[in-house]
Amino acid sequence: MPECAHVAIASTISSRRMGKELDLVSVERSICPDIYHPAIARDGLLTRLRVPGGVLNESQCQALAQLLATIGLEYVQVTNRANLQLRSLDRDLDPSILTKLTECGLAASNTAVDGIRNVMLSPTAGIDAGELIDVRPLAAAWLEYLDVHPELGALSNKFSVGFDGGGSVSILDRPNDITLLAVGANEFRLYLNMGDLGTRPVPVGVILSVAECLPMLAAIAQSYRQRIEVSGGDIRRKPRLRDIIGSCGLTEFSELVRREIRGSRHFIFKNLTDRDADLVSGDLHLGVHPQRQTDRYYQGVVLPLGRWTVGQIRGLGSIASRYGSGTIRLTPWQNVLLPDVSARDLPLVQSMITDLGLVQTATHPTSLLRACAGATGCQFAATDTQADAIALAEYLAAKFTLDRPLNIHVSGCEKSCAQHDRADITLWGQSSSDRSPSYRIEIDGATAEFGRETSDLLAPERVPIAIGNFITAYHEQRRDRDESLRAFINRQSSAQLQQLLHVA
Ligand code: SF4
Repeated sequence: MPECAHVAIASTISSRRMGKELDLVSVERSICPDIYHPAIARDGLLTRLRVPGGVLNESQCQALAQLLATIGLEYVQVTNRANLQLRSLDRDLDPSILTKLTECGLAASNTAVDGIRNVMLSPTAGIDAGELIDVRPLAAAWLEYLDVHPELGALSNKFSVGFDGGGSVSILDRPNDITLLAVGANEFRLYLNMGDLGTRPVPVGVILSVAECLPMLAAIAQSYRQRIEVSGGDIRRKPRLRDIIGSCGLTEFSELVRREIRGSRHFIFKNLTDRDADLVSGDLHLGVHPQRQTDRYYQGVVLPLGRWTVGQIRGLGSIASRYGSGTIRLTPWQNVLLPDVSARDLPLVQSMITDLGLVQTATHPTSLLRACAGATGCQFAATDTQADAIALAEYLAAKFTLDRPLNIHVSGCEKSCAQHDRADITLWGQSSSDRSPSYRIEIDGATAEFGRETSDLLAPERVPIAIGNFITAYHEQRRDRDESLRAFINRQSSAQLQQLLHVA
């Protein structure tokens, strides 16, 4: 579930759930929700639990399962920021529930800063066999800093910081406002996001020692705060860091940060090209991988569209407790990892996960499936993306055994909340001429398209057949099993591609 799904301000809409108008408009609602300030969506209230470091322990899993059972939700969704999202709520969470969440570390004790605990780190931090620095202490220090600086409640809830330890499972392509990437045993490279919505941050020509990281983050946050105080405006629509940098210019922002640090070190931010981000792949966390710890492995587990049911939360929590270290890690690809399993226990653990109805490899059609909130949750959606994505994945799973990961992205409108980077297959929701829901299909980011002409738009029920036809052609006509979808597409003419996507 994307974290940037549109939600409307309560003063303008009410919400409908189970055919009943809900009175959700009596309080001012947030645009970007946190646990204390839910937002309104089409299907009711929507709220997010920010999970520090993306790591849940056994008691948090139990508390989460209990919370869902209490409020009557079948599942929670892991978001593309490795947080947890509850939707379709018909009322705010009771104070007693909030107290329990605070006690188990799933909500900030300081209500002003819960929304800005927007910290992402590699889900394999501390266990990644290739990492340069374990970023968990640094991320924890940043969270502590936020907790004792209530003035930073002025930050946008989208003010996001990523910590990447330089290992094999990188978050460098995630669209954080700030990313620190380990590039040596005691060195981080600073990245800032200055591009369009959803773009990845870029290096700004500054290398920091571990000790310099926290002062730099604090200075950037305080500089942001100063600038929004200067500019004023609608506090519900706080600017992103990129907007602040865009309005004052990178050099002036750099100077502001330098003054805030009050150190002797001189630096000027520069907008540099990122040469590393293309190496990042979102499927590397799936399957089983050796950890840096001897005879310990982590198992990546797929949650289709990030949905994690009460039974699966309890089940994975119990497996983690019995055969791992009692922890489960959420990933920004909306899946989870089960770390610290011994080689001896792996086969049993894998079979128990399968019994929970969960897939563990990157090549299943649900593994790299992304969909935004869609028509049930977002007023801008032309299609029911969640249901259509599941139907497509089920069709493909029944018909094909994939031998390469396939990234499918279903978007209810052009805003592309669920996935900003290029997917193998993208379905763009449209309204056809008679206003019925339909899709335009894009393969490999517009290399091949079907549906640009309105008459070619496909009704949702025809999409699985079209995509199935295309995959059949790819499997039958590729040079060998190693030929990627992109390489296959690149040797087709535009007319051939149209034909491969066509549904009779
Ligand atoms: S319909 Fe558009 S705005 Fe709404 S969640 Fe989907 S992509 Fe975002």
